[in-house]
Amino acid sequence: MKPGAASRQAVCRPIPPQAAWIPVFRPALPTAERLAPFLAIIDQTRQYSNYGGLVGRFAKRLSETLGLGADGVRPAVSGTLALLGAILASAGRASPDRPLALCPAHTFVATANAAEMAGYQPYFVDVDVNSWLFEPAMARNHPALDRVGLVLAVAPYGQGVEQAAWAAFSRDTGIPVVIDGAATFERLAAFPGELVGQVPVALSLHATKTFSTGEGGAVVCADRGLLDRATAALNFGFNGERISSMPGTNGKMSEYHAAVGLAALEAWPETQAAFDKAAYTYRRQAEAAGCGDRVVTAPRIASCYTLYHARDAVEAAAVENALHAARIEYRHWYGPGLHLEPAFRSAPRDELPNTEQLGRCLIGLPMAPDLSTQEIFRIVAALDAGLRGISGHDEEGNNG
Ligand SMILES: *Cc1c(COP(=O)(O)O)cnc(C)c1O
Repeated sequence: MKPGAASRQAVCRPIPPQAAWIPVFRPALPTAERLAPFLAIIDQTRQYSNYGGLVGRFAKRLSETLGLGADGVRPAVSGTLALLGAILASAGRASPDRPLALCPAHTFVATANAAEMAGYQPYFVDVDVNSWLFEPAMARNHPALDRVGLVLAVAPYGQGVEQAAWAAFSRDTGIPVVIDGAATFERLAAFPGELVGQVPVALSLHATKTFSTGEGGAVVCADRGLLDRATAALNFGFNGERISSMPGTNGKMSEYHAAVGLAALEAWPETQAAFDKAAYTYRRQAEAAGCGDRVVTAPRIASCYTLYHARDAVEAAAVENALHAARIEYRHWYGPGLHLEPAFRSAPRDELPNTEQLGRCLIGLPMAPDLSTQEIFRIVAALDAGLRGISGHDEEGNNG
């Protein structure tokens, strides 16, 4: 929907014609200089993959960083493959009598991709409009439960998903649960007691996440046996010997990506401080502009995201037009809902009103560890311009 007056007014705001676009995310991974010592190790050992020394070191250090001791983490080639490894290790492949995987529709497509790779038919469920989560109580009462072989709980935008209620659900129903905690690196490190346990969590270490190895992922779990099975699943099902003993694929992290991960862990305190500063500046400027209650930053969500939570579709469109006019990139990180993606159109699903509302109203704003005060000023000014373009909004917006 194109709001006529609102968009024209936004376009009329004075914007320097030569202003460079601000990208929605501007990752900063370790420099060549910081990588060099780790790459030199690879030159010496000439081990490039197959769970070599650097992957082992990275797994241990990541596990310690998350407060899980030495062996709570198994690296993977991506977050999507970490999900697949966790699924195969906990639920195995889909069975004919339980072919369905309950999957919230407000997530990134990878959640459903991983379920399909393990043979499950995704069944899309809605999320709570306030928590943005598919909650354990919603799963317990689901009418299709006797045909469900897997539940995917998603931690949207890096919010934590608590273990206790999902572990109880799994115990009571016998249905395995896997948490897509792609962007939860910071939350896991802050609350390992609540967020890590028997239910496996898949992390993404993709470049658009707060902590990254370029491409990468990890399975995080307190159950050592499950972690061993995930490791085997991501190595052709090989369990120690070259005998394929369970469903598997190649989802191993390479030594090169582990090198990036080790250098990124060394730089993590600086990275974290830089993201904190950007989030703080966003919050302060949004409050000054009267839209502090609509701009969502860390620590509620992961530092790689800043979201504008529009009240409705009209406000979302006005804000989007103003951002575009000011040459500011934005993104609906999870799209309109997985049920509206062509690949998943035919999947069974519930009514999804909250998914559709959140898909329209949660607008990803630019974020970067080095996002400058100047850039944030430009972004918040564009939000303000968009909001002023909606009649009657002014008085309302300034109350926040
Ligand atoms: C990033 C992300 C993934 C995919 O991770 P990759 O590392 O890109 O495979 C999956 N689920 C969610 C919710 C994500 O945000």
